[in-house]
Amino acid sequence: MTAPSDRAPTATLFNYSYSVKQPDKPTSIPPAIRKIVIVGGGSAGWMTAMILANALIRHGIEISVLESPMVGIIGVGEGSTPWLRGFFDSLGIEESEWMPECNATYKCGITFDEWSTKPGFESYFHPFASMLDNLTMTQFVHNSQARVNGADVCAHPNRFFIASYLAHNNLAPKPERTFPFDVWYGYHFDSVLLGQYLHKKALQRGVKYTKCHVTGVQLNERGEIASVSIQDGEPVTADIFVDCTGFAGILIQKALGTPFVSFSNNLFNDAAIAMPTPIGDDIPSQTISTALKHGWRWKIPLTSRYGNGYVYSSAFCSADDAEHELREGLGALDSDTPARHLKMKIGRVTKHWNKNCLAVGLAQGFIEPLEATALLFIQRTATTFVEFLEAGDLSEAAHERFNQRVNDHFEGTRDYIVTHYKTNTRRDTEYWRANAANTNLSDSLRQLYGLWMSGKGIAADVGRQAIGKGYPVFSWYCIMSGMGIFPDPKDLRPAAPPDNRYSMEEIDNLLQRSTLNFRSQRDVLMNIPQKVQERSLQIYFW
Ligand SMILES: Cc1cc2nc3c(=O)[nH]c(=O)nc-3n(C[C@H](O)[C@H](O)[C@H](O)COP(=O)(O)OP(=O)(O)OC[C@H]3O[C@@H](n4cnc5c(N)ncnc54)[C@H](O)[C@@H]3O)c2cc1C
Repeated sequence: MTAPSDRAPTATLFNYSYSVKQPDKPTSIPPAIRKIVIVGGGSAGWMTAMILANALIRHGIEISVLESPMVGIIGVGEGSTPWLRGFFDSLGIEESEWMPECNATYKCGITFDEWSTKPGFESYFHPFASMLDNLTMTQFVHNSQARVNGADVCAHPNRFFIASYLAHNNLAPKPERTFPFDVWYGYHFDSVLLGQYLHKKALQRGVKYTKCHVTGVQLNERGEIASVSIQDGEPVTADIFVDCTGFAGILIQKALGTPFVSFSNNLFNDAAIAMPTPIGDDIPSQTISTALKHGWRWKIPLTSRYGNGYVYSSAFCSADDAEHELREGLGALDSDTPARHLKMKIGRVTKHWNKNCLAVGLAQGFIEPLEATALLFIQRTATTFVEFLEAGDLSEAAHERFNQRVNDHFEGTRDYIVTHYKTNTRRDTEYWRANAANTNLSDSLRQLYGLWMSGKGIAADVGRQAIGKGYPVFSWYCIMSGMGIFPDPKDLRPAAPPDNRYSMEEIDNLLQRSTLNFRSQRDVLMNIPQKVQERSLQIYFW
């Protein structure tokens, strides 16, 4: 096999390193910023509090959280991307500490079942990458290109990635120390417990907390937020306010009137039902997303139970019918376990940082949870804000650059999620037919589909466009190949050199042998290893 450095062209898509040490870098935080008030104590409020506290309390800035005793948190959201590992690493919090407290498990990626009806592509796995993938990525991209250009070679993503082998064998993505490759992974967790855990840690790290209901917002003559009034107390002032009030968006949307861009013309789902079921001895290391009649169902393994839910479009299905279909699929028609019904507002605000208000979490926007990206938006928004604050530039131009960055991330992610629906081949309900027929696509997405179908390759385009700000090239190859977006099998020519230059047997052997370095998820969770410090993960995808 070819080593990554022998390939041409080669580009690093992820270059991720982590360290528990906080480098003491010089900052130019404007002296006028002395107090930041976060309104809302859901995952967004507490993650933001931790990120701000970590960077700013040592500079004498006060961080406070106000949380209503009357409005609960949304209390769903149990899957993450690998970036959550960076969140805990940057805070110096060990998995052995937080994971048991949150009933957390390791996640290698997501299996998509029954989204495509194409023979051989009824199921595919979207993996989180690992360093080992440097050895198989070229082969995967080569085969995908060869197949889209008409050669009958294997291009199913499940066959090329170690994460897929781990997930299908319920193995945790934590290799033995002797295994020379790091593996990227995400987590599943109980979102209520995660909120409680972060709340506790934030208080330990100096964040102030007041349980109070915000009843009003006062603006100054420049249209900035001067204070928020609370029930049974004096108005609360701050230099910066962070809106973490969930879908209500009390500060950013209601008080400042920041426009909201709905994504409902290309993401139809606007409702969800959540319901737990028991888990057995095996604890899987993947989320399963199964397409249903009017949406999809998630199945997320925690140490204590499965979290399940049905994300659907209320324009195509009633809440009762959706609950019936979910219960039927779970074998829980006679179960007394209540199901929670939720509404979702899909889209984003135009400005996530508007005047002296930053919006984080559902208040800034939400893309449905198909790829579990919401906590990543929270993390990125808060860390990028710290970056801007540390650079000392709070000018209008800085606001614009910041908002552009966050908006690009939203749009790129939206387009990736839309692709699951647009490329579906189910024709069993009006919902799936409408999704396939939907022509409300961004220009970047149209261009990407055109390039794919032309067989010219999409890597350079993904790198250039905002689309690449959501998902890296290999994820785009995974979804297009995994959904079977190839010529009809009867039109494929028999594989011959150079199309079949890579041996699938060799790849299978490499990945099979590699799994011997991993143990079952249950075993690993019983004794979570300490982190290997100061390691760097470099992934080459092209
Ligand atoms: C069906 C579904 C599935 C999801 N799955 C995932 C997933 O797998 N992965 C993922 O990353 N994300 C997922 N999410 C998103 C995730 O749940 C949220 O992004 C995350 O929980 C953050 O929510 P939040 O803190 O913004 O809002 P909330 O949890 O709604 O918190 C809002 C906070 O604001 C406070 N508040 C509201 N009004 C006031 C007031 N007047 N005064 C004071 N305080 C107030 C409330 O008390 C509460 O503390 C999912 C969402 C849905 C709907």
